[in-house]
Amino acid sequence: MPTHKKKREALATLNYTKRGFRLRDGRLHLAGGIVVTVVWSRKLPAEPSSVRVYRDSLGHWYGSFVVPAEVQPLPGAGRVLGVDRGVKETATTTSDAHDLPHAGHGRKAQKRLARYDRMMARRRPKKGQPGSRGYREARKLRAKACKKVARQRADTGRKWAKKVVRDHDAVAVEDFRPKFLAKTTMAGKAADAAIGATKRALVEMGRKHGRDIRLVHPAHTTMDCGNCMTRAKHVLPLGERTYTCTACGAVSPRDKNSARVMLVRAGLNPAGADGARPFGALLHEAA
Ligand SMILES: [Zn+2]
Repeated sequence: MPTHKKKREALATLNYTKRGFRLRDGRLHLAGGIVVTVVWSRKLPAEPSSVRVYRDSLGHWYGSFVVPAEVQPLPGAGRVLGVDRGVKETATTTSDAHDLPHAGHGRKAQKRLARYDRMMARRRPKKGQPGSRGYREARKLRAKACKKVARQRADTGRKWAKKVVRDHDAVAVEDFRPKFLAKTTMAGKAADAAIGATKRALVEMGRKHGRDIRLVHPAHTTMDCGNCMTRAKHVLPLGERTYTCTACGAVSPRDKNSARVMLVRAGLNPAGADGARPFGALLHEAA
């Protein structure tokens, strides 16, 4: 059964608003006469209104400043993009040049994680007893490995999002809620985490550069035809990689079809999509 996290086990987090902190000579002065030397990851773009000082699972302290968002507009691209989570790819898009293959960060770390899991299991303290030094050490190693994967995912997501946002004025993306998928396998969970990180990066990057990012409800995206929007009568089996429309005869790779459905559902004009080869070009050769 799930248990409540005790307060003493929770990670420390402290919030300071305007009057609770001050920056002077690059150092952070907190209420109560605490002075912290900060290692800045980047320059603050504006005067911060608050700061959250917190400790992560590795025991490192961070300060996260709230500053008014500043939009950095990009020149118009004249193109739109539809994005869907793929099976073979983290993101399948209506433009072949913007598909994002699985980076496999989670898979590469899996062996290591499994080893730390076993280490923790061996050293696990008896109920009601504090963890031993070895146990805490193993837990820290595991947290470190997890964090590394999360950072790699965020980095890959940001690089991809940057490219997508630069090349498109509007992007339609599935409003992905990972909990419905992949409840079992590790590979599935890793894929979900990568998709989640990618979507987050896209939404963030879109906001930063003033692009139009539209979230699309994911229901039936694999059943609808991206060409004529007719809904198939049956759910496509997962192994079936091609979508064939019984109404208009369009044939396209399954994920590409879904990406196009996103575009249409978001109210964007598919004619503005890249590779603007109309769907007709993918019709049956036999027809
Ligand atoms: Zn159709």
